Amino acid sequence: MANQDGDAPPIAARVKALEQVLVEKGLVDPATLDLLIDTYETKVGPRNGARVVARAWTDPDYRRRLLDDATSAIAELGYTGRQGEHMLVVENTPAVHNMVVCTLCSCYPWPVLGLPPVWYKSAPYRSRAVLDPRGVLREFGLELPEEVEVRVWDSTAELRYLVLPERPAGTDGLSEEELAALVTRDAMIGVARVGPPGARP
Ligand code: FE
Repeated sequence: MANQDGDAPPIAARVKALEQVLVEKGLVDPATLDLLIDTYETKVGPRNGARVVARAWTDPDYRRRLLDDATSAIAELGYTGRQGEHMLVVENTPAVHNMVVCTLCSCYPWPVLGLPPVWYKSAPYRSRAVLDPRGVLREFGLELPEEVEVRVWDSTAELRYLVLPERPAGTDGLSEEELAALVTRDAMIGVARVGPPGARP
């Protein structure tokens, strides 16, 4: 749709025009579209993943189940559905940092993280996450000590990953809900750490 001279209308206008054509042709029902968008914007999204992480931080049995069989443990909290059928949770420790990429396209665990951010789908991230993970993490503002091993996981249509970040220090008194509020999408992709309370903007 974009033309060569770079004066393509903004993406929102193009999406609107496309939607209008599809609705006029009777190919989609606007109410269904609204429902789908609402689902991925508000019901499915990183808040789901954050609740999984907070539960794992506060319940050792749940953490064990999550690491043993992530798909079932995530389903226990009610998060199931497309692009989340086969999940693996990888745990960050003081010695190991995990990060997730899809080198082929943009495979991503929708039920726990929602829709992928634009950078996750970009060619530079997809190629450089494997070639130079520490360099990529540095660009995200995460400088890892040399002795921390970085593991990069390549998401596929068959298996999608969620990073279980380290629980930050100084959070002993927090409730599960308060902990969940600290967990960011980027930390669950593995390009950030979870900061202590009050550290985030
Ligand atoms: Fe993919």
